Amino acid sequence: MSSTTPPVSGRTEEEKRALLRELLAAHAARPHVAPASFAQERLWFLDRLEPGSPAYNVSAAWRITGPLEVAALERALSGLARRHEALRTTFAVQQGAPVQVIAPPSDVALPVVDVVEGPAEERLEAARRMAAEEADSPFDLERGPLFRPCLLRLAGDDHVLVLTLHHAVTDGWSQGVMYRELAELYAAALRSEAAALPALPVQYADFAAWQREALRGEALEAQLAWWRERLAGAPPLLALPWDRPRPAAQSFRGAREWVELPAELVQAVRGAARGEGATLFMALMAAWQALLARWSGQEDLVVGTPVAGRGPTETEGLIGFFADTLALRGDLSGDPTFRELLGRFRSVALDAFAHQETPFDRVVEELRPDRTLSYSPIFQVMLSLGPPTPGLALQGAEAQPLVMERWIARFDLTLELVERADGAVDGWLYYATQLFDAATIRRLLDHYRLLLAGMAADPSRRVGEIGLASDEERAALDGWNRTERAHPVRCIHAWFREQAARTPDAAAVSIDGRELSFAELDAWSDRLSRVLRGRGVGVESRVAVCLERGPGLVAALLAILKAGAAYVPLDPGYPPERLAWVLEDCGAALLLTDSSLAAGLDASVPALLADRAAEEIAAAPADALADSADPENAAYVIYTSGSTGRPKGVVVPHRALSNHMAWMLERFPLSADDRVLQKTPFLFDASVWEFWAPLLSGARLVLARPGGEKDPAYLVRALAEEGITVLQVVPTLLRVLADEPGLEDARALRLLFCGGEALPREAVARVLERIHPEIWNLYGPTEACIDATFHRAEGGAGTVPLGAGIDNTRLHVLDGALRPAPVGVPGELYIAGEGLARGYLGRPGLTAERFLPDPFAPAAGGRMYRTGDRVRWNESASVRECVGAFVGGSQEAGHEQQSRPPFTHALTHSRTHALEYLGRIDHQVKVRGYRIELGEIEAALRKHPGVNDAVVIVRSEGAKVL
Ligand code: AMP
Ligand code: MG
Repeated sequence: MSSTTPPVSGRTEEEKRALLRELLAAHAARPHVAPASFAQERLWFLDRLEPGSPAYNVSAAWRITGPLEVAALERALSGLARRHEALRTTFAVQQGAPVQVIAPPSDVALPVVDVVEGPAEERLEAARRMAAEEADSPFDLERGPLFRPCLLRLAGDDHVLVLTLHHAVTDGWSQGVMYRELAELYAAALRSEAAALPALPVQYADFAAWQREALRGEALEAQLAWWRERLAGAPPLLALPWDRPRPAAQSFRGAREWVELPAELVQAVRGAARGEGATLFMALMAAWQALLARWSGQEDLVVGTPVAGRGPTETEGLIGFFADTLALRGDLSGDPTFRELLGRFRSVALDAFAHQETPFDRVVEELRPDRTLSYSPIFQVMLSLGPPTPGLALQGAEAQPLVMERWIARFDLTLELVERADGAVDGWLYYATQLFDAATIRRLLDHYRLLLAGMAADPSRRVGEIGLASDEERAALDGWNRTERAHPVRCIHAWFREQAARTPDAAAVSIDGRELSFAELDAWSDRLSRVLRGRGVGVESRVAVCLERGPGLVAALLAILKAGAAYVPLDPGYPPERLAWVLEDCGAALLLTDSSLAAGLDASVPALLADRAAEEIAAAPADALADSADPENAAYVIYTSGSTGRPKGVVVPHRALSNHMAWMLERFPLSADDRVLQKTPFLFDASVWEFWAPLLSGARLVLARPGGEKDPAYLVRALAEEGITVLQVVPTLLRVLADEPGLEDARALRLLFCGGEALPREAVARVLERIHPEIWNLYGPTEACIDATFHRAEGGAGTVPLGAGIDNTRLHVLDGALRPAPVGVPGELYIAGEGLARGYLGRPGLTAERFLPDPFAPAAGGRMYRTGDRVRWNESASVRECVGAFVGGSQEAGHEQQSRPPFTHALTHSRTHALEYLGRIDHQVKVRGYRIELGEIEAALRKHPGVNDAVVIVRSEGAKVL
């Protein structure tokens, strides 16, 4: 054929066939070496990357009961290989590229292995094991053979036939051809006759040559340009909420889960599709994409579907690797109805099918996605809908598929659906076990059924509005939010007074060996509160505090509360501009500081210098002020970064703090023997419980020396020397402590709280190798009073879950339209309950934006805080694995598509629940525990006259410095 013939694409069917005939004429003269097809070329390259990987072994095992003529079967297999060159093909390299080498026909040997020892059950298990081993044994693409039959003999009339091929010479369609012809060849061999199979008009190598000829020049360019445009800007990865972090390299290990769509459901879906001129396949795919969009939060996603890849009809009777994939891009933007979605998807699918001649490998090459071994390029999820796979019928015997429980997951998820004669659709969802647990996959399939049913029931409904939670699940979610617990609602200083009266002589505070008793602290703070009152401080005023950590700071915080006011922490280390800004914004009645720090502070606010006023304070009466705050009054105002450039003051009432402290001290009781290290700078709300937990329970508050929180060596020493029993750290510091010499000496440490950022299990593991406290992950924004959830941390991979709600806290995981996300599906976390802050000081607009009316509240008027954190509900891992093992073991031998696992939702009643943290949905970051809105930095940079615009990013590597 001359290379000037125009390529096949763009020609009529008749012209294509003529070209094929032309090629056929050249058939006889064809050498035994032929070019590889594009798909073969890819597999050959993959094999070079990972020689002998079984990822592309295609294997099936058949249990054959009844009389079997081994010699006839061997002749039939030889006959098959004689007909199909693909079964005689190996590969070689010519000029750096792989070529097919086709061996002349010869007899195929059928090795027979006896598995005749032991009882029938054991023999079958042994056969199953051997079949799986056979299926996994590597192929040598250069030496071959790439078609490897093997027979296991369990008894005279009981055999297992294992047929293993390399994908480079076969595909799904080929299996059907193979079984059909094998049956005929075997029947003929039994009669010692030649089979009456029609001669094959072409061979696979002809197809490969045809493909190379057809796909070049302008027509190919046009096709590739079309694909390039279609897939431009598509997200390279569909980020589903994996149960485990994605490894750097795919292992291809898989498992599968049965799925069944009853005929009535399919009928309804088909009807809805027909209304939009769409097929059942389009409807199933559109629903699948809608589901994946909800699970991933991605409105733009690509899902693959297989196509036969057999252009000319002459190829239909061939065994060989023709199958290809089409990338179908879904658009879920704008909260579409099913009808709209179908309309959109219909045109995507029709267009894509019209361009299916372009081999997917060429499309990938063209798009040059970032090549990674971690996931497949362009798409990681597949869906197919096809006829049942054909069976094997050997004359005189009965053949049934033998399930080997060896599943290869070339993609993250592959949903293989089959249309049954009775109108039902069923099949298997294959999944990568590196990423997913069985329970998650079952939930995904439940959601798929619910979504399809909802879409079919009312195609004009928005897809996002279709509830995915079962009644049982909704009840479970409600139950998880039933965290009511009746705690007394008190003012913190009143609570402290009760404790001081109980243990007046016990040490309340100590620093560097100096101690202060409960009675002393109570008296000091009472005196100071009277001085504050004398300066006009009362209920609902705010007192800014700028003091270094020390007993004086503790007395000051207590005194401010006793005077009825709220404290506003000012970190002495902060830039003067920032301190001035906060001082002004909070409308402080008074600034409480000392003479060494006052110089850097705004002089316009009246100040009380604690050192200068020592005598005045000492002379004040030490009895309590009578008219003090009630639990609705503010206890503190803590400023956090603001995205528009202005930090905002979060106003927290006593009621919220009282609830937090009551939960904490009940859940983690402290005794007089406990020593709590106070090291968190007091402008973090996490410092709040460090102060109050010991002071409200009679334990000892041990103050780290100023600046000590930045010195890991000092901290580790303090843990040992002070006999600290309770410590809190941000994960960044936990990582550092894990490597710090001397950590083993922190023997008294029994409770280690972590929070403020995602907690990596690996850091937990490293600490637990050296010391043995209970480690707890605490999560909560300042707006929900310190902590909203808690979870016991263990080592492992990934991050520790956030856990369940603390007392009187309700957690809602919602989508963009404030609809609850079902278990397993990511959404934004909203927090409601006792812990909620009053709002942002002097910022009603911003408060209304973040504190929304709570539509799920048990009583009217409830609010919920929008956190900006992406989370999902899940069951705890231990229970999930237990469920998986139980169900996983129930898969029995039987027909691939007909065996139905007897158990599906075993043990679900014993679920335990936890929120999992998935990241932020905005531009808020944590740097060493500091909450920062990148927008605030950008706004500051833009203020500079030399800066037009600014973008701030965070690099996470090497974040080991403190
Ligand atoms: P802050 O107001 O400083 O307590 O910051 C609250 C934010 O820190 C949350 O909204 C989360 O983004 C993050 N955060 C706090 N604790 C955790 C945690 N345990 N795991 C993951 N993120 C956390
Ligand atoms: Mg917090």
